[in-house]
Amino acid sequence: MHVTRRDFLKYVAAAAAALGIDAAGLGGLERALAASSSPPIVWLQGALCTGCSVSLLNLTNPGIEDVLLNSVSLRHHSNIQASAGDLAISCLVDDADTFNGEFILVVEGAVPTAFSGRTCIVGQRDGAEWTMLDAVSELGAKAKYVVSVGTCASFGGIPKESPYTASKPVAEVLGATVRNPVVNLPGCPAHPNTIVGALVTLLTTGMPQLGTGRQPTAFYPTTVHRRCPRLYSMFTQVGSNGCYFLKGCRGPWTVISCPVHKWNNGVSWCIQANMACIGCAAPDFPRKPLLAYGLANARVDWRAHQVSGTSLAPMTTPAIPSAPVTPPPGGFVPMMRISPWS
Ligand code: SF4
Ligand code: SF4
Repeated sequence: MHVTRRDFLKYVAAAAAALGIDAAGLGGLERALAASSSPPIVWLQGALCTGCSVSLLNLTNPGIEDVLLNSVSLRHHSNIQASAGDLAISCLVDDADTFNGEFILVVEGAVPTAFSGRTCIVGQRDGAEWTMLDAVSELGAKAKYVVSVGTCASFGGIPKESPYTASKPVAEVLGATVRNPVVNLPGCPAHPNTIVGALVTLLTTGMPQLGTGRQPTAFYPTTVHRRCPRLYSMFTQVGSNGCYFLKGCRGPWTVISCPVHKWNNGVSWCIQANMACIGCAAPDFPRKPLLAYGLANARVDWRAHQVSGTSLAPMTTPAIPSAPVTPPPGGFVPMMRISPWS
């Protein structure tokens, strides 16, 4: 199915509430998309699983092929661009010079810094290996906006756990060299609507309002817990209906819009599918273990949260109890009575 630019604008208009774009912003989008010389989007991939790219390619209504062909100027992305090797790298470098201060740099994956970044090579440049560290540092300083897609780019994610690569979040690597604050779009993977919506926002209205984790508040308004349909419901086993707080659910500490956007074209999401939230969009992801059973652990987490003063600060991993928490006489009480958020 061919989706025209008008169709795409309709999609954006439908999502305007979530995007925070008013009529003036939509006009800006139309102008941005109509311009043949609209600033390109350059997508770099570092230490990653490519899950965020797969997530983007799963965009529906409109399909990603129509967005790429008709609407957004995604000039460089190693999985979908036609060119490869020297040609691809030289075009990328030329575009960064031509659109210096105008283009959007999207980074997927963390940035390995050990051995001067030589554990992650993005390609050959002038006959020498070009490290992800050098590419992000050079392009990040030239870009108008830098977007970290996924938890690995935003907070380090799974690659930061490696003792060998010293992988770091993009914002930490770039420091003060950027023209605008790095925009984080955490999630493992990031949601396709969030990726496209954030890029459209940057193209039309500029920098969005960011939360304490640098996430756009339009797409990361509050915790999973606060919008969870199981809030205040009785504790049950994972795999059955009910709140998973005592099974270690990370919803209270994870800021993202999963209960609203859902996944797979709005079909379902983790808790609707009877699984606890593992906090894949949180700065401390992945925790070990991902879920920890028991009221005792929940209390440890809550105390750490109170001490840190923010739901986005790293927290220590609570110890796994040697034995399951013994239910109180009469069984577990409703969430409402044990929850510090009630
Ligand atoms: S603890 Fe988890 S399952 Fe329970 S209400 Fe919060 S987000 Fe939903
Ligand atoms: S509900 Fe939690 S684990 Fe599931 S996608 Fe959202 S943030 Fe990730």
